[in-house]
Amino acid sequence: MRSHYCGELTAKNISEEVTLSGWVHRRRDHGGVIFLDLRDREGITQVVFDPDRAESFAIADSVRSEFVVEMKGLVRARPEGTVNPNMTTGEIEVLGHELKILNRAATPPFQLDEHQAVGEDIRLKNRFLDLRRPEIQQKLRTRSKVTSILRRYLDDNGFLDIETPILTRATPEGARDYLVPSRTHQGSFFALPQSPQLFKQLLMVSGFDRYYQIAKCFRDEDLRADRQPEFTQIDLETSFLGQEEIMNLTEGMITNLFKELKDIDLGEFPRMPFSEAMEKYGSDKPDLRIPLVIQTVSDLMTDVDFKVFSGPATDPNGRVAALKVPGGNALTRKQIDEYTKFVGIYGAKGLAYIKVNDKSDLEEGLQSPIVKFLPNDVRQALLDRVEAQDGDLIFFGADQATVVNEALGALRCKLGADLDLYTCEWAPLWVVDFPMFEQTSDGGITAIHHPFTAPSCSPEDLKASPLTALSQAYDMVLNGTELGGGSIRIHQSEMQETVFELLNISKDEQEEKFGFLLDALKFGAPPHGGLAFGLDRLVMLLTGSASIRDVIAFPKTQSATCLLTQAPGEVSEKQLKELSIRVRKPVSE
Ligand code: ASP
Repeated sequence: MRSHYCGELTAKNISEEVTLSGWVHRRRDHGGVIFLDLRDREGITQVVFDPDRAESFAIADSVRSEFVVEMKGLVRARPEGTVNPNMTTGEIEVLGHELKILNRAATPPFQLDEHQAVGEDIRLKNRFLDLRRPEIQQKLRTRSKVTSILRRYLDDNGFLDIETPILTRATPEGARDYLVPSRTHQGSFFALPQSPQLFKQLLMVSGFDRYYQIAKCFRDEDLRADRQPEFTQIDLETSFLGQEEIMNLTEGMITNLFKELKDIDLGEFPRMPFSEAMEKYGSDKPDLRIPLVIQTVSDLMTDVDFKVFSGPATDPNGRVAALKVPGGNALTRKQIDEYTKFVGIYGAKGLAYIKVNDKSDLEEGLQSPIVKFLPNDVRQALLDRVEAQDGDLIFFGADQATVVNEALGALRCKLGADLDLYTCEWAPLWVVDFPMFEQTSDGGITAIHHPFTAPSCSPEDLKASPLTALSQAYDMVLNGTELGGGSIRIHQSEMQETVFELLNISKDEQEEKFGFLLDALKFGAPPHGGLAFGLDRLVMLLTGSASIRDVIAFPKTQSATCLLTQAPGEVSEKQLKELSIRVRKPVSE
């Protein structure tokens, strides 16, 4: 049905007889001549039908948008003045000889080029049409290229592609599980994997040495803008490699991808301890394209007569920090009010600031509602600390350190975007030396990565001070987005039991949930470690997409439903009976 794709015809094909098949993108009637823009995967070609060929002309006259047609014709140069330099096929058109309708189409609910005017829900409901849009086709093609380049790299480096089960037991990654009831074991449930974590570790115990998988993972969490309940990871695991070696290998994978796909040289990735990332950028995934840095000034504020500052400055969990915006005193009152509202989202109760008009005049040169509370020696020390210049603005955060970090960290990124402060296009880095655990609100502790991550210390030291212990975990960050994260794993059962105990998982529960892992660790588990990259986010960055849904063929909505298939849906009483399930609250109630 075709000799060429529509999108591949160029001046080279002039005078060739071609057969094209595809969709009618647009039909235009130009006083006796009919133009059809014919579209397929590779692009659009303009086809012309004139009344000399009455039969095909009549058919061309009858087709409508999105009809599927097959045509035969002759490639010719476009008449002078009608060349379209914006299209690959813009120098030619095809003079239509024959036209056949292969299938008709009802009037589409939206024109493909008017997608922006229609709501996303209409597009997702008609995703099969939405996916015909060239931009989105391009994104999915990039995605396919990305996986093919990554696979090639991993194959070349001795990784084996091995599948792991989807129907399994809980694999804790900090989210809720999706559960699947068992019919053959009534009352029991499978969990869909939050990641292939335990299976990939078992594959190392079994001696496969290097594993990878492009793996679907499922996490039932409240969705944020860039999350999906099912998403794809490039999941990998290796044996007998240390943290540095794993980081180098996977850094090579991402650098190679950027080089092959976009001819971009990412250079060597800097490494930053978690503590430094939090201190300077208020985030464990700092966007290093933005030159602003958060600076602690708590030590300057302990004695000032201003509770808002002196309180957090003297609280061991508090922090007073400054964020200098060079040239920022041009910000208006209204802009500052908006930023104050913005940091409120992160729990900040206000946003103090000082405009530095003339740093040599500590009395009159500083413009600020709070400067009156700061004695001159504090003013001077502050200006010195942040290396203020005339024209700068200094924002402050003063609260619990977690609030200050989140608020100023987010403000830093917002200022970067609003004031276009970016110094480069791509800024990758590794964040390392994460703590093992963090405190939960109920006074317990929880693993920062997952409970299979190895600490950097002995079981004894870990027990002695769990909250200060560091882990052998590492995250790869690009432009403020976490691309991937992983760790060296615990490969000895004693250490694994210690971590479970610290996490308050009883012996019985350990046995019940992770007995198979503890057993495996007893039978010669090699030192091992790995990483998983979020494929969706990676493709989102590579294609400059605003939404993760643009790089997933059939995404779910923010409320975790599929508008196309209407999943999740009710099931029949018979199916429920077979599973011994009674629904307490039917959906219709
Ligand atoms: N399983 C981890 C995750 O999904 C990644 C890893 O540690 O390899 O985040």
